[in-house]
Amino acid sequence: METVAPFKEIIDLIKEQGGDAFKYCYQCGRCDTVCPWNRVRDFSMRKLIREATFGLTDIESEDLWRCTTCGKCPQYCPRGVKQIESGVALRKIATENDIFPGPIAPIRTVSVGLMGEGNPFNEERSKRAEWAEGLSVNTFSEGMEVLYFSCCYLSYAPRLKKVAAATVDILKKAGVKFGILGSKESCCGESIRKTGNEELFKKLAKDNIKTFIDNGVKKILVSSPHSYHTFKNEYPEFMVNFEVVHISQYLHELISSGRLKLTKGYGKKVTYHDPCYAGRHNGIFDEPREILKGISGIELLEMPDTRENSLCCGGGGGRIWVETPKSERFSDLRLEQAIGVGAEVLVTSCPYCITNFEDSRLSLDDPEVLEIRDITEIIQELI
Ligand code: SF4
Ligand code: SF4
Repeated sequence: METVAPFKEIIDLIKEQGGDAFKYCYQCGRCDTVCPWNRVRDFSMRKLIREATFGLTDIESEDLWRCTTCGKCPQYCPRGVKQIESGVALRKIATENDIFPGPIAPIRTVSVGLMGEGNPFNEERSKRAEWAEGLSVNTFSEGMEVLYFSCCYLSYAPRLKKVAAATVDILKKAGVKFGILGSKESCCGESIRKTGNEELFKKLAKDNIKTFIDNGVKKILVSSPHSYHTFKNEYPEFMVNFEVVHISQYLHELISSGRLKLTKGYGKKVTYHDPCYAGRHNGIFDEPREILKGISGIELLEMPDTRENSLCCGGGGGRIWVETPKSERFSDLRLEQAIGVGAEVLVTSCPYCITNFEDSRLSLDDPEVLEIRDITEIIQELI
């Protein structure tokens, strides 16, 4: 076990890195009771906090990288310990020392892609807008209603390009004046920040902010709750304030105002999965449900862990880039819940959730038993 800066020094390092509240922990263990990890294997945030308090953090431990920053345990902590900030502070120390144990190693490659090409896949930056080819999408110019920021996953990942295309179709049918900035955009940086790479986050954020300002952007429409979170809650650290709207909120607004009309029904049983960064972190619970409830013929079923208690898909905090053993995937549990309540379709509105759920679906005995859909894909079918 390698501990960095024993005793007092690690405490100071964590404080410096923004995890100061860990000292209030009184070891009640509530965090471990609610943490999704303990449904699949042992993991103790309480223990991580305890070790940090004594400066005894094992900086090479894989446990440092488990927290998906799902936001569940901070809701239950009686002492206001900021578990996410404390955990990220420990990762900053590991990142600064270039320590990425075993399965965490891909984060190095991801960082290279983000640094060089502005996306975690190390795909060419010049191909960032290829998803929009043939869809007649305009380049954003000042005065348009919204910039549509499609994020890295919707720009490059084949499954998610369909979600970007559905979004474009909807915006056009609703008469929204929108544009994209394609290769001028970079990854929002939310997830790499949670791996402790603050420097890279700052670079990505500053590049995006410059692009937004240079192009006269005021309102940004996003498909990813991770982009939503960082644009809305983290970019203001750079003294900017863009109006940010998540697609589930925007669809709700377009339908409520009559700009978007649903002309067909949807006779299926569906359940909605709250992505951590839309729901728990940002309070977007009602809009997607109201959209779904408003569809004729639909039956909306709720899973056991819902809204504030939603079960994380496992993709936050940089874990979307880490291979999780099959027996430890939260997304497998989520699919079991969806199937268990009788849903035919598991609907969500986050590229990480879709990625993890599609992976889990493929390992079902019968993958046809459940469809995984982004809410935009459902709406596109009905207009
Ligand atoms: S819930 Fe809060 S006080 Fe209790 S062990 Fe966890 S971090 Fe410590
Ligand atoms: S934020 Fe979520 S994943 Fe992280 S320790 Fe808390 S409950 Fe577990």
